[in-house]
Amino acid sequence: MAQDSIMVEDHLRHPLFQNAMQSVEEAGKIINADPNIINRLKKPKRCIIVSVPVRMDDSTVKVFSGYRVQYNSTLGPYKGGIRYHQDVCLGEVVGLASLMMLKNSLMGLPYGGGKGGITVDPTKLSRTEKQNLTRRYTSEIGPFIGPQKDIPAPDVGTDSQTMAWMMDTYSQETGYAQPGVVTGKPIEIGGSLGRTGATGLGAVYVAEKAFEKKGMSLKGATIAVQGFGNVGSHAALYAFERGAKIVAISDVSGGLFNGDGLNIPDVIEHVRINKSIAGYSRGQKISNEDLLLLDVDALFPCALEGVITEKNAEKIKAKIIIEGANGPVTNDATKILHKKGVFIAPDVIANGGGVVVSYFEWVQDIMSFFWDESEINNRLKGIITKAFDRSYVMAQEKNVDMRQAAMAVSVERLQKAMLLRGLYPR
Ligand code: NAD
Repeated sequence: MAQDSIMVEDHLRHPLFQNAMQSVEEAGKIINADPNIINRLKKPKRCIIVSVPVRMDDSTVKVFSGYRVQYNSTLGPYKGGIRYHQDVCLGEVVGLASLMMLKNSLMGLPYGGGKGGITVDPTKLSRTEKQNLTRRYTSEIGPFIGPQKDIPAPDVGTDSQTMAWMMDTYSQETGYAQPGVVTGKPIEIGGSLGRTGATGLGAVYVAEKAFEKKGMSLKGATIAVQGFGNVGSHAALYAFERGAKIVAISDVSGGLFNGDGLNIPDVIEHVRINKSIAGYSRGQKISNEDLLLLDVDALFPCALEGVITEKNAEKIKAKIIIEGANGPVTNDATKILHKKGVFIAPDVIANGGGVVVSYFEWVQDIMSFFWDESEINNRLKGIITKAFDRSYVMAQEKNVDMRQAAMAVSVERLQKAMLLRGLYPR
């Protein structure tokens, strides 16, 4: 027994989970929360570990480890992505599931938090192996998921095809088509319009609010975007369409600078053909490090975590930072930037557009009635700007930064719901 309990605590020592719980504790202090609620929020409700045997192309059978963590379901079914990566472990999945709980609560969605993953390098699998892996994993977690129970989505290493296989496996095993069991599906089988660009568009709606609060306008503003993948390229495109001047972009190959502003649709076409911004001729080369230090109105870090730290925070000249990626600005850097008067829209708000449109996909699947893209985008704007406004009011009232305020808003909603539902049995 003693050994078991040590092992569980070992998993919970994962730094990602520890950081999330530090935010929950801080949020609890800001809203003067009930300590019993904070204690409950610091433990996952259920962790599922499954073994996933897969016949490989060479006929051998490999057994992978899969996880699904159902962190909290006070507000509704569990919701969160599935990650395929060689570093996936239970502690990381618990941490990511807790962050989904916090994000879903902040966005006002009727969802709890969940996350799943398999410890595997998906780039080393053939399409058949990846399909077999996905179907067996879905079958193993099958009793625990469902449109009213737990709704997975894509994350690192998984995509709309992975979700199509999950949806098909679950539907085959239950006997009828159940599109609402996962989100991030292809349009043809119940996916939603607007899902692909949703995170980038949400980041731009948040940027518009941040500019407004700084007494500035996105139109005509100068912007640098780090990372030109799903989030970065869409954020750049939607900001460009709103009249912003995107003076710098970058990807893993390096950066591009053009003081007159880059033609973003043209760059996107170049990336579609060449798979990278490398070789695009209408801009000068700039390093990823220097891009972050440009004298621009706003910086969108949309690539990796931990790129703005206490080492470069003093040198940042941007007035606004929109965290498109998860965790690009460290906690230490946030404190330095907050003192300098830089406005940071934290990841939990700025990249929440993806899960909001996932929610719309689920609602449309349940209703079997599909909306057009403008309806989706307008509803996204309503939800994400409300989360921003609530956090802004909290930040002003409690004199805390936007990251702390967003967490406080999230924990406050969870607390209200948990107190209303009570503890079963008493
Ligand atoms: P992606 O793989 O589509 O794109 C990542 C981009 O970052 C690529 O352009 C890549 O070249 C670039 N990149 C990689 N290493 C880099 C480096 N060292 N320097 C500069 N650029 C580098 O991924 P994505 O879906 O756009 O996700 C980006 C970030 O946003 C991640 O932190 C992810 O967790 C977060 N996020 C994504 C979504 C979503 O809906 N896609 C939602 C919420 C959060």
